[in-house]
Amino acid sequence: MNSPGVALADALSGKRDLLLPCVHCGLCLPACPTYVRMHDENDSPRGRLYLMRAVVEGRIDPAADAFQTHIDRCLGCRACEPVCPAGVEYGTLLEYARAVAVAARPQPWFIRTLLGVFQRPGRMRTVMRLSRWLRASGLAGLGAWIIPRRWHTLRMGLAMLSASGGGKLRRLGRRRRAAPTEASVGPPDAYSALPDTDDKDEVRPARVGLLSGCVQAGLFERVNDATGRVLKANGFAAVTPSTQACCGALHSHSGDLEGARALARVNIAAFEGADVETVVVNAAGCGAAMKGYAQLLADDAEYATRAAAITEKIVDLSEILVRYGMRKGAPIWARVTYDAPCHLLHAQGVAEAPLEMLRSIPQLELVELKGSAECCGGAGLYGITHGELAQSIGSDKVDAILETKAEAVVTGNPGCMMHIGAGLLFRGAGIEAIHPVELVDESYRRGGLY
Ligand code: SF4
Ligand code: SF4
Repeated sequence: MNSPGVALADALSGKRDLLLPCVHCGLCLPACPTYVRMHDENDSPRGRLYLMRAVVEGRIDPAADAFQTHIDRCLGCRACEPVCPAGVEYGTLLEYARAVAVAARPQPWFIRTLLGVFQRPGRMRTVMRLSRWLRASGLAGLGAWIIPRRWHTLRMGLAMLSASGGGKLRRLGRRRRAAPTEASVGPPDAYSALPDTDDKDEVRPARVGLLSGCVQAGLFERVNDATGRVLKANGFAAVTPSTQACCGALHSHSGDLEGARALARVNIAAFEGADVETVVVNAAGCGAAMKGYAQLLADDAEYATRAAAITEKIVDLSEILVRYGMRKGAPIWARVTYDAPCHLLHAQGVAEAPLEMLRSIPQLELVELKGSAECCGGAGLYGITHGELAQSIGSDKVDAILETKAEAVVTGNPGCMMHIGAGLLFRGAGIEAIHPVELVDESYRRGGLY
């Protein structure tokens, strides 16, 4: 029987080029949020690559504390990838390493239960219904305040749920104020017709598929609704196939590669059936996972080609809107700051498009956020499973946000919205984390575009 270490070697057979290029230069160390805080080589990308290699070469047991602890402590933020001169595909290696770690030592029961729920749409709907009730009744917010800190997982989970509610956007930036300085991103001309794309090489896809997601659909339906309206206002008809499933991001990040593959196959079939040229995703983590389907199913005889074809069609919402030009809505006289989701910036390499989306809103003042490229500590389930470290990373993010004196922080991923939102809630900051499309939608609504 194969040991897990051999299994990792097997998983990487033919792909040793993924692990070998690391030249141990250490340029990735300052970009790594865990290394910066722990000052332990084993909590750096280079150290984790050493550990993976040690497992592959049979020098350490994957059940050993050293491998388990440091692989588990990785945020999976992939900030180490763009700074690596050797092009090490750390994110892919981490997924294999997690799969090996989990095979050697099973995860806590609540993680296994949660991942199982995400694979069963009926159970997912029930959990989301209950979550929405907890949120709407105020019990989630109350629980977050009264539950002792030592029950971190429950306390943080309830705070994140409470923070997902939104509600302040309608009041944001209604009153005209002095024009923002050059940091301002909104041109003064307000209303425009549908952008003319005749001079562009590409033809606007009239019909696009939309991933509704599971947390996004369950807790952020308003973001999906805003996405549909904004796409329509810009000339795209969005279809959301009813047979689609969870993207599988949480599964692959948690070492359940088979679970992730099963979900990927469902989504591939769903979007093939929808007959769309483009699949739009408004959640950074889901977009990164779907752009990884080709890699995930590369060894699947039936699905490899189909996965590669779908991967080509995946775009972030900001990419498609900016690529074809956006209509302008009414002014929003507010000061906001933008936090880049790791899985949009580092995993997908999408940096400018969300900022362009915000720049299209007249009079919106966008102030730079210090450390915007660093993870917020949410990282899927990390925010609730890694109490102290996630809090430390999240706390630095909240400090930076408060320093900007922004009236809202904008970020395009539900996990980040919830984790940052919970941090702001605990500080009593009175400001929310919102999705960029919510601001564009509000600007269109005020401008009478609907
Ligand atoms: S930057 Fe790349 S090559 Fe250098 S140590 Fe980090 S992973 Fe290895
Ligand atoms: S993914 Fe993030 S936390 Fe993990 S090693 Fe890379 S930079 Fe560090």
